[in-house]
Amino acid sequence: MPNYCKIKKSVNIIDEIEEYLIRLFPLCRSITGEPNRKTLKILQEIIPLTIHEVPSGSKVFDWIIPDEWKISSAWIEDQEGKRIVDFNDNNLHVVSYSMPINKTMHWQELKPHIHFHPSLPNAIPYRTSYFDQDWGFCVTNEQYEELSKNCTPLNVFIDSELKPGSLSYGEYLIKGHSSREVLLSCYICHPSMANDSLSGVLLTAFLARCISIQKNLNWSYRIVFVPETIGAVTYCALNQRQIKEIDIGLVITTVGGPGDFGYKQTWNPDHWLNELVESILEKNCNSFKKYPFDIHGSDERQYSSQGFRVNSATICKDKYYEYSEYHSSLDNLNFVSAKNIERSLNLYIDLIYRLESLEFYKSEQPNCENMLSKHNLYPALGGAQSFGKEAYSETDLVLWILFLSDGKTPLFKILKDLDISKSQLNYILQKLVDLGLLRKV
Ligand code: ZN
Repeated sequence: MPNYCKIKKSVNIIDEIEEYLIRLFPLCRSITGEPNRKTLKILQEIIPLTIHEVPSGSKVFDWIIPDEWKISSAWIEDQEGKRIVDFNDNNLHVVSYSMPINKTMHWQELKPHIHFHPSLPNAIPYRTSYFDQDWGFCVTNEQYEELSKNCTPLNVFIDSELKPGSLSYGEYLIKGHSSREVLLSCYICHPSMANDSLSGVLLTAFLARCISIQKNLNWSYRIVFVPETIGAVTYCALNQRQIKEIDIGLVITTVGGPGDFGYKQTWNPDHWLNELVESILEKNCNSFKKYPFDIHGSDERQYSSQGFRVNSATICKDKYYEYSEYHSSLDNLNFVSAKNIERSLNLYIDLIYRLESLEFYKSEQPNCENMLSKHNLYPALGGAQSFGKEAYSETDLVLWILFLSDGKTPLFKILKDLDISKSQLNYILQKLVDLGLLRKV
């Protein structure tokens, strides 16, 4: 793991990220479709991910994978043939999953299908209609004004089709020594927006490449590129046993903006992953924001659901919901920079490095206490000594270590909870290992 920094500096990673931002930004991704496949194929240049296809109509828990959406062109013209709105100018102009339409209509009929941004006049908002059969256009305030002033009918045209196909997702598994797994998940379903979705996709790909180069990994890594929600639900449905065994997750999104770093906590606020993330942010950032787990958000909603309960955190830079350009055409390549993505990548790399360095111990006798006297641990080790804020006797510490060492809680978390240092505990850890009561896992 210590080679991470060298690896990053051996190539000009910022230029690479920039190149992929420019190539991937224009693709009109959605929850299905050829642009998603193309995105995954381009990512295969960075990592050897496997592309899976799940047919339309497949039942995945409470959901059904919808028909595949394809759009070729779309516009609104006035009677003189002037195009007031054109999908060719910006793919956010059409509501994602719009049904086809070719009709001349008055403004009053068109109006319910036109969306504008409530607070950013020059922005085109991002709207979807995946599961309701509908159509619509998203426009700037100026375009809205121009459309609404038309007294003559407008020609409205969307050349799209919805037909059976498949949902595409990418998967890359990196095996470590242990079967314990970290899930890295990002979503590939957003069209031309740079911070929401695309920045996370690129960071995940480059992070996966960094991890794959490492030798002697302790953890195994399950890296998935899915359309948000339906893709994560699909992945969980097809990999139920594997997801139930995942230790922790990282849902990677909105990592390339100019604003503050922040992190969203895992569903269990006391989980050690939160402390690990926070220690990295404290070390690397002057300030950062902390967002408690919320039932709204990204795919941690699926991975943390009752059936799986994977504690999943997100480190972000300009978190979704929190910046004004969110879900609009102003979340673009002016808002996001490769440099900012690289800064976020460094935090995730630091997190992986820390994960790989964690120590775990497991009690060999998890069912009830050990009989300490049999092992000469009681009362021979008795006698009060003061450690940390609380006064623990050595017997106390023996009992605490055996009680807390479940093989899944890292030693740093146990030390923190007991408020003692590793050096204060080394002697006892070694003694318990030598006695066969504790083992390092
Ligand atoms: Zn979004």
